[in-house]
Parts: sequence; structure tokens; C-alpha cells
Amino acid sequence: MTNMNGFSDSQESALLEDDVFSELQREIGSQTLPLLTDNMLDEVEEKYSFTQQYTECTEIKNESSDREYYQETAAPIREEFAGCYDFQFSLANQGSSKHWVYSQILRKVFILMDETLPVRFKWDPPEDGLFLRTTMVFSLDQYASDPVKRCHNHVAAVNTNNRDIDPRIIKHVVRCLDHSSMYEERNEHLSVLTPLHTPQAGSQYVLMNFKFLCKNSCPSGMNRRPTELIFNLEDSKRTVLGRRRLLVRVCSCPKRDLKKEESEVTEAQPEVKKRKLCLPVAKKMMPSCDTHVFKVQLNIIGKENYLAVLKYAYDIMAGQASRTGHYEFFKPYMDDILRKTP
Ligand SMILES: [Zn+2]
Repeated sequence: MTNMNGFSDSQESALLEDDVFSELQREIGSQTLPLLTDNMLDEVEEKYSFTQQYTECTEIKNESSDREYYQETAAPIREEFAGCYDFQFSLANQGSSKHWVYSQILRKVFILMDETLPVRFKWDPPEDGLFLRTTMVFSLDQYASDPVKRCHNHVAAVNTNNRDIDPRIIKHVVRCLDHSSMYEERNEHLSVLTPLHTPQAGSQYVLMNFKFLCKNSCPSGMNRRPTELIFNLEDSKRTVLGRRRLLVRVCSCPKRDLKKEESEVTEAQPEVKKRKLCLPVAKKMMPSCDTHVFKVQLNIIGKENYLAVLKYAYDIMAGQASRTGHYEFFKPYMDDILRKTP
């Protein structure tokens, strides 16, 4: 659907307009777009004892969970934690999809606009009545408080692909295709709240599909700034029970952009480049490298002991990053330790 045949950005953008228009029209026709009807809201409210605050987000309640999610003018919090439900996500099998690719090195998804990204969510015990809040944010700290919204071009009312779409949904870049999703705005930040149901018998996870309706390159919108998704596991009182992050770039040519960004990283890190050149070594090392992320919460007596534990955790990851050449994979976790070091 989306072309990859060498058009310039502006040409591509014009062509995508038609594609997006027809695709959205198809979806509206088959009612797969997550438009909220009163009936749907009633159903969800009844089941989850919803109050009006979930759909009409004009008032900010002075609850601790609210403070945790949006601190005054600040951006959504991005710190990852598994919490007591051991909240985890993984990307579903890519299969033959050419619409998106995932970079292990960058820990980042590259996806075409208006294509589906399937994500699996897992929490343990898999209780019913919890929610997934998905928020797209800018990755760089200097833009963290700027809300991520669709660009003027794609959000324009004259744009026929926005006709008949709930106005609360139009400006959202990311949409969750689960029909019971609710679209919220708080302090100008946009998020999608989706009720999570217990995984079906025999399944360990719940699958959610997402779409992105602007590209990172859209001027006046994301405007070439890197973005990521924040997934919150929340209860019905908005208490955040777990949080995960996924770097996402919405672009016209996912494979090309993945290669470009990976090469930028390896060029910026001479050591990584050196390792990458020794491909057999790097390949041999990765299978033995456990990439599962464990969250540790410990009570340690004595500042020196505490610092020693942080230093040890930092050093072993730095060592593994150096040995495997996958520096970018370890870097966010190492940075996190540095931030926690007094
Ligand atoms: Zn756009």
C-alpha cells in the first residue's frame, strides 16, 4: 500500500494522503475504527465501574495516582518497572509482514504509517479489570513535556479521512484497535486507555494492535523528533501498577531507516563498530546473552554498600555490552543506574 519506490518525502506524503484516505474510509465502513458509541461506553462503564472522569477528562483529581501519571505540567513518566504484576510486553511474531521491523540493537520498531503493530501484554496473576494506557511521547528529554499530536496536514478538518471520526480521536497519533479503547487528553498529553481482559484459556498474554496516523517526519507534528510508546498497567483508580517503553519510528521505509540508524550508532561507538566487523564473534556471543530484563528492589544497609551494588550492576552490563558489541541495548539500563547513583 505505502510506496517505497523512491519518491521524495513531499511526493510520498501527497501519495500517502490518498492511501490513508481510502484505507480509513474502508475502516469506517467496516467500523473497525475505535469510535466510541454511547452503548460501548455504557457497556465498559458498567463492567469496570467507570466514572465519568475516564471519558471526560476535564477535571484533574487530586489523587496520588494522578500525580504519579501527570505531575503538574510535566510529561508522562517514562521509568520502566515490572511491579507486583510483573508487567511485560513483547512484539508478536512478525511473520511475513513487511510493514514493520524491529532492531535488537536499538530496541526500536520501525513501522509504516497506518499499518498494524501487534503487541502482546502479560501480567501475573492475569486478573481481569485492569487497564492498558498507551501514550506516545518524545524520547529526547528536551521535548519530553511537548505532547505528541498529529500534524496540521493530517489532522485538518477539511481532510476527508477525518470526517465522521470522533473529534477526541482525530489528533491522536497512536490508536489502539481494540474497540473498547477510550481516548483521553490530560494537560494536552494524549493517551489511549484500553480495558484488559483475562487472557483466553491456554494463552499467557493479551494481544493488542496499534496503528500510527502520522510519520515522525511530519512537519508541524512530530517534526523529525524521535518518539516512543509508554505502556502503563493501571487499575480502575488509575494507579500505575507497571510501566514499559518501546521506541517507535513511523516512516516510509522501515528497513532503510533501521539500517541507517543502526549504522549511525555503530559509527558513533568505535568499539561497537570494531565488534560488528567481527561478525562471527558477535553472532556467537548473542545467543548466550540473556536479554530478559529483571527489576531488582533491594534494601541495602550503608551508602557504601548501596553504591557498590549499583557499581557492580553497571560494570557487568558494561562488560557484556563491550563483549557482545550490542552497546545500545545495554545503554538505557546503564544510564538508568547512573541516574540512581547519588
Ligand atoms: Zn502527519
